[in-house]
Amino acid sequence: MELAPYSEFKRWRCIHCGYCCGEYDISLGYEDERILRKFGSIFSYGKIGVYLKRKGDKCIFRKSRCKIYRFRPVACRKYPFYIRNSGDEKSEFLYNEKCYHIFVDRNCRGLGVGEDIEKAIVRLLRWIERHSPTP
Ligand code: SF4
Ligand code: SF4
Repeated sequence: MELAPYSEFKRWRCIHCGYCCGEYDISLGYEDERILRKFGSIFSYGKIGVYLKRKGDKCIFRKSRCKIYRFRPVACRKYPFYIRNSGDEKSEFLYNEKCYHIFVDRNCRGLGVGEDIEKAIVRLLRWIERHSPTP
């Protein structure tokens, strides 16, 4: 993971390359577990949390694309964006009268392509607002 302030990139779109589905263990929250339980034995229990199982070198749900894209965990919905309380003017992002600091994993292959990155951030913050009061 190599975090960089979002403003270093003008555009972003997920190009479904699968890099993040192979590179990272996907940590699950309570709500993720509730939603994903219906898919059967797909959890892996670690010392400090619950994760999606892996098959080979990637997430159990990764084929040519994500098999559960509509139900994907919060960590996958947020990636490659990371929301912090502090940073500098390059990470500062004002939304709904709140100041966030937004970083991206510069290894995401979708940085630099697609839509205006600020639109993607607004869409994510809206989703977070709808699904949890404290991002
Ligand atoms: S690395 Fe980026 S572009 Fe590739 S699947 Fe993950 S979010 Fe999408
Ligand atoms: S749930 Fe889907 S998006 Fe998330 S790591 Fe697995 S295959 Fe990738």
